[in-house]
Amino acid sequence: MTGAAQGEIRFPAFLIAALPPRFYRRAVSVHFTILGSGSGGNCAYLETPEVRLLIDAGFSGRQIRQRLASISRTPETLTGILLTHEHQDHTQGLTALASKLRIPVYCNRLTQEATERQLETRFEGRHFVTGASFDLGDVTVDTFSVPHDAQDPVGFLLRTHAGNIGFLTDLGHATKLVLERVRPAHLLVLEANHDLKLLQDDTKRPWSTKQRILSRHGHLSNDAAADVAEQIVSATLTRIYLGHLSRDCNSPELARAAVGGRLKQLGATHISVESTSQDALSPTVTL
Ligand SMILES: [Zn+2]
Ligand SMILES: [Zn+2]
Repeated sequence: MTGAAQGEIRFPAFLIAALPPRFYRRAVSVHFTILGSGSGGNCAYLETPEVRLLIDAGFSGRQIRQRLASISRTPETLTGILLTHEHQDHTQGLTALASKLRIPVYCNRLTQEATERQLETRFEGRHFVTGASFDLGDVTVDTFSVPHDAQDPVGFLLRTHAGNIGFLTDLGHATKLVLERVRPAHLLVLEANHDLKLLQDDTKRPWSTKQRILSRHGHLSNDAAADVAEQIVSATLTRIYLGHLSRDCNSPELARAAVGGRLKQLGATHISVESTSQDALSPTVTL
């Protein structure tokens, strides 16, 4: 079946051309696709009438190209890449996309320095100061500090005319500031990294690695993600994507049960809770 998605208003092209810009913008949708998320790679794509952005580039350049192709897009048409922090599962594609294709990277100075050292490459960084907001075309990007073991890690709230998208992954615990900054989100990508018991019982990881993951600068467990959801629940928030799941120490079912179960207890049945995968794209959401 083709046609407009539920709730979306479609206008004929000649009519759009005659509309004042503000009205036109409202008539054109904002699309959001998680190209993949997990401990081994993170990358999402946001498209508005004015910009095409990646949020992190944590797969190889080839993988990102393939995943964009499956939604009929190419890296060459990207406006920019927003970078949360320098860890490899967020940056591996930058050599191909930023250094070779010269797509600008929006990040703070320390993150650029650490990423360039790690990838042994240079790229064009457009710097923001953590905590500041800036405009990229018709998107306003709010940045905020998150507690994680990187140089200057951040989360984002991307404000568009159709709704706000929050990014909250790679943090050991949710500070008051973090909760405040993602509260206006309509859609939130929220870290649910591990199930506590599976992590404790894991035999592959040395004790020191487990300590790092569990620390206040590590990663959010399923229960900690449920706590975040509980604290920011509102009529505005309608969609949570659980991201950055550990392959060995979590499962989509456990993550959804922890967060979805908590929201159900609270009666917040208007919020859909979906898990994401490192291996496959999530369906494109039209805001
Ligand atoms: Zn990560
Ligand atoms: Zn990280």
